[in-house]
Amino acid sequence: MNHDRKSIALAAVLAVAGLVPAAQAARPAHPAAKPASAAAPTLPGPPFPSYESAAQVDAACKTGLDGANERVRGLEKRKPGLDWLRAWDSLYAWQEDTSGALIFLKNVHPDQAIRTAAEACELKWQDFQSTLGLNARIYQIGRQSKFGDPIDRRAAQVALEGFEDSGVGLPEAKRNRAKEISDKITELSQQFTKNIRDSHVRVLFTEAELKDVPEGVWKDKPRDPDGKIALGVDYPSFYPVMQNAEDPAVRERMYRAKLGEGGADNIKLLQQIEQLRLEYAKLFGYSTYTDFLLRHRMAENLGRATKFLDDVHAAVTEEEKRDVLELRQVKARHLKQPLDGVKLDRWDVPFYTELGKREKFGVDDEAFRPYFPPQESLRFVMRVAEKMFNIRYDRVAGSFWTPDVQAYAVTDVATGKPLASLYVDLYPRDGKYNHAAVWSFRNEASSVNRQAQAALVVNFDRKGLTLHELETLLHEFGHSLHSNLSATRYASDGGTNVMQDFVEAPSQMLEDWVYDKKVLKVFQEVCPACKPVPDEMVDKAKAAKDYDKGIYFGRQWLYAAYDLSLHGTTAPDPLDTWTRMEGQTPLGTVPGTLFPAGFAHIASGYGAGYYGYLWSLVVAMDLRTAFAADKLDPKVGARYRQTVIGQGGQKLPQQLVRDFLGRDLSNQAFYDYLRK
Ligand SMILES: [Zn+2]
Repeated sequence: MNHDRKSIALAAVLAVAGLVPAAQAARPAHPAAKPASAAAPTLPGPPFPSYESAAQVDAACKTGLDGANERVRGLEKRKPGLDWLRAWDSLYAWQEDTSGALIFLKNVHPDQAIRTAAEACELKWQDFQSTLGLNARIYQIGRQSKFGDPIDRRAAQVALEGFEDSGVGLPEAKRNRAKEISDKITELSQQFTKNIRDSHVRVLFTEAELKDVPEGVWKDKPRDPDGKIALGVDYPSFYPVMQNAEDPAVRERMYRAKLGEGGADNIKLLQQIEQLRLEYAKLFGYSTYTDFLLRHRMAENLGRATKFLDDVHAAVTEEEKRDVLELRQVKARHLKQPLDGVKLDRWDVPFYTELGKREKFGVDDEAFRPYFPPQESLRFVMRVAEKMFNIRYDRVAGSFWTPDVQAYAVTDVATGKPLASLYVDLYPRDGKYNHAAVWSFRNEASSVNRQAQAALVVNFDRKGLTLHELETLLHEFGHSLHSNLSATRYASDGGTNVMQDFVEAPSQMLEDWVYDKKVLKVFQEVCPACKPVPDEMVDKAKAAKDYDKGIYFGRQWLYAAYDLSLHGTTAPDPLDTWTRMEGQTPLGTVPGTLFPAGFAHIASGYGAGYYGYLWSLVVAMDLRTAFAADKLDPKVGARYRQTVIGQGGQKLPQQLVRDFLGRDLSNQAFYDYLRK
């Protein structure tokens, strides 16, 4: 998943010295692991902010907003053209510098008071943005601007679209309503994710119930007075139970707890969000929020997105049914019962998928953990990127939001130029964002020698990663590369500021790097003491990779189709709609579960955009074709860096693909794979 997207693309570059703090030399570095030949690396960009109290967050928030308002007043007096565009990008940069890292902390800071203060600050910035989006004066100066250069023209166009999407062209009454709605949606969506993050769901199990689950998962967990073990529903607890617990009642309890996350309140919040989005689109004369949103995306409109999903569904339906039958057969053999009477429950799927894979391919995902310790896994993905893109990661000491957090300076090897900073938060803890994501909270801008900063947040088991988790790490790392290696003229075009149905492509492209033996050999370069993962295990994992492909893509299709159903011409009841749609799938639905209450994607930035994961995968699989001969080829890597990830949003995605592959985008690799 990617970071929350802003509703208006605030943008620009700074020509006027002093408006944006110069890239400061960061805190002193302690390059313990590096030879002394190079100068001690420092973190490019301003130091990561450190707050001791909510009051400090409030004060920093106010400083940011005051400075932004000052820049808005300056912008109102700019001349059309470059003068306006540069001041616009400098406002964008100022906003990132004063609010990017601060708001990000709502997801990860261990102190609840700081998280709450960061959320309050986010609402203030939302108010600032929705007000700015209606600033007709700044919009008109932009409209009068003429640009000869395509990059300037594109940056200005994106900025103007932001104003138009905010309602600057609407009559006054509608304009005011547009602002009210945007602000309200941010507030509701914040509440939705907060309900998940702070829900502290715990499930109690006896030791006997967990006897098949790896001990490391539960041994050190808190116990209730009766000695029962309290497990959370975070990934490192959830999956091992779902994949290993023999007793179906144990899996069912875990499944129901996970699918209750967020609670009934979130269903109500989601419906309110849908209704407000629909009303918002109607202010602009659109009959659906999806059409309103997709006019600035690759898919263009609801009709094309729906047609795409229909094609995907047609390509996977039969395979999904075959997969379900296969798992029923595994279950029947396992329970020594005749197939006819065996039903596959939702909480059976992870368990029998693992069992089926073990039976058929002799592979066990858990068996990979000893080969992939978390810290070395991180060094491994960095080393892969170093080889592909001729860059270097140096760890820089310092204290960040918790002592576990690590920071890296990214440097271009050929020129020695400092490129970016990357922060990494690897392990789960209470109150932390519970999925895997990257926040690129500061974007690079070559015109003002500004460097990118991003944070990679995952929740891994300290004992090691499965191959599947290594794939997740590469995926997220792909987002951070998109941010770190951006070389755009303007910050507002930087890194992952691309169309949302393209943004997953560079990450998804890297996912299958983990099934490549040559790539995996790189592990020994960063950890000579680690036992190499046996070729035979990788061969088996590769063969087993698509074992449940039909179920997987059937599920992804369902999420995407469900999302579009909520964002059509009506705003239907989210739970009824889900129950009906999931009920029509081969595995059916489980009464009493509340999946939509935990579906944070659609309550926040991915509303009417979940289809983008599948859409991006079409692009990702096409991009992969260039690396078919050698995934580590530095020549192809250099071309990819230069033509795709280095370009951020300053060219349209179709153009990026053309520049890299030398031809138009093709969906052939994707459908060949789905129908394989
Ligand atoms: Zn992603």
